[in-house]
Amino acid sequence: MNGQMMQQPLLISSLLTHAERHHGDREVVSRRVEGDIHRTTYKAMAARSRRMAKALAALGVQRSDRVATLAWNGYRHMELYYAVSGSGAVLHTLNPRLHPDQVTYIADHAEDQVLCFDLTFLPLIQAVAGRTKTVKHWVAMTDRAHMPVGAAAAGIPNLLCYEDLIESQDDRYSWPSFDENTASSLCYTSGTTGNPKGVLYSHRSTVLHTFAIALPDSLNCSAMDCILPVVPMFHVNAWGLPYAACMVGAKLVFPGAGLDGKSLYELFEAEQVTVSAGVPTVWQALLSYVEANGLKFSTMRRTVIGGSACPPAMLRTFGDTYDVRVLHAWGMTEMSPVGTVAAFKPRHAALSREARYAVMSTQGRCVYPVDMKIVDEAGHELAWGTEASGDVLVRGPFIVSRYFKDEGGDPLRHDGETGWFPTGDVARIDADGYMQITDRSKDVIKSGGEWIGSIDLENIAMAHPAVAMAACIAAHHPKWDERPLLVVVKKPGAELTREALLAFYEGKIAKWWTPDDVVFVDAIPLGATGKMQKNRLREQFKDYKLPTA
Ligand code: AMP
Repeated sequence: MNGQMMQQPLLISSLLTHAERHHGDREVVSRRVEGDIHRTTYKAMAARSRRMAKALAALGVQRSDRVATLAWNGYRHMELYYAVSGSGAVLHTLNPRLHPDQVTYIADHAEDQVLCFDLTFLPLIQAVAGRTKTVKHWVAMTDRAHMPVGAAAAGIPNLLCYEDLIESQDDRYSWPSFDENTASSLCYTSGTTGNPKGVLYSHRSTVLHTFAIALPDSLNCSAMDCILPVVPMFHVNAWGLPYAACMVGAKLVFPGAGLDGKSLYELFEAEQVTVSAGVPTVWQALLSYVEANGLKFSTMRRTVIGGSACPPAMLRTFGDTYDVRVLHAWGMTEMSPVGTVAAFKPRHAALSREARYAVMSTQGRCVYPVDMKIVDEAGHELAWGTEASGDVLVRGPFIVSRYFKDEGGDPLRHDGETGWFPTGDVARIDADGYMQITDRSKDVIKSGGEWIGSIDLENIAMAHPAVAMAACIAAHHPKWDERPLLVVVKKPGAELTREALLAFYEGKIAKWWTPDDVVFVDAIPLGATGKMQKNRLREQFKDYKLPTA
């Protein structure tokens, strides 16, 4: 017997319609690439999204066609999130930090029909416009007065103006209804090995992920909040926040290209931001600015940190000095992306501050409906609550089942009904279900057959006051095969020796985990999503001779 409830497909357009009808006057504020601060509301944004949906249809965009963006976080980008997916086309958020060759490869692979870009990325557009095979229209996300002209526009065929497209239509448009399993958006993984692979989200997976992240023990989003996603909208849909803000009616603030400490801090304060989200490297810059200028956050209460491990020293600084609660979260492009969040359970209330920080620095516990297990090399599930770490496998309705165009073959391990997705991360899980990542499987250091977790070693180095950034990689060792080599960027003006840093490890880890050597460098290469590129460091130090005692 079937239930007798309304059959309403879970569609992305319903999120914006909800925000328009029930939170219509709530503000969306953006720092624009044109240089000013722009203010709008959900009501006005919904009307413009409908106009854009009509304009795209007039350009010939059909159901399932890919419309790409190369853009910062801003209201026009958000309008496209809804205009493209809401009309049944697929929003493809390209990462502007990639090399033009990669952008061309990905745009061709996705068969993008239209590409919308912020003016900042004009040089990148000029580099790719003559090369991509399928893009028919290039849309500059600006008004007529700021349109590139002359040499700046040369070589970009069919260059259109975003505001002209909006002006060309009225907002009399009803969002179409279709199967909730229809593709809604496409994101390519960072692809440190092989070609980048596309993850194709559906309306259903996106709406379910939105519910999941909005919950109190997830990112805890509410109508009372003012959310500033620092995480880019080209990095897994800004972790779902442009959808969650509509679902709950929160105020949204977009930082545009202003990701330096000063610009972010000023926006946090001026707009009374309560919640933010981003990768650790961004917070490093913000904290340095706030620290150097003796400032405080007057409204910020929570910040979600993920994308790479949040150094425990950072969550302490946020907590002890600024009274900001860090929510450490873990996930990946293939997971929409949020899988776990380090939210407390009742028994943690009685713990000391120290012990609570230890819980907060794990990657957290599963957000419903994600399930997770760790397995050994033979694929057998490992028990929780032991020191054993293993490969992390996940499953759930917003986790990838195969890559776009079946790139790379079947990614799943088929045991059970849905199969499990191997994340490539290595972790242990405690008795309460809190996961602690010890490594990416390819970053693990194998010393004499035993695993050393590079993240633990980096976290300790990061807690040293003279260290700005630290990466730990495997270096070849004649006896142990691999041993840890620590690559360090010092804080400006700080004094630090190899010996002093190695002494800092004493008593904090098993002695044999101590790095064999330290090299000081000016910078550690960061990837397009702000993560340390350890593969490049490994290449750089592949012939490094460790001191042999
Ligand atoms: P991406 O798909 O580019 O978001 O990368 C996903 C990968 O980032 C994961 O598989 C992890 O290796 C890493 N990652 C994400 N969040 C965390 C975290 N909180 N701690 C450690 N690693 C993380």
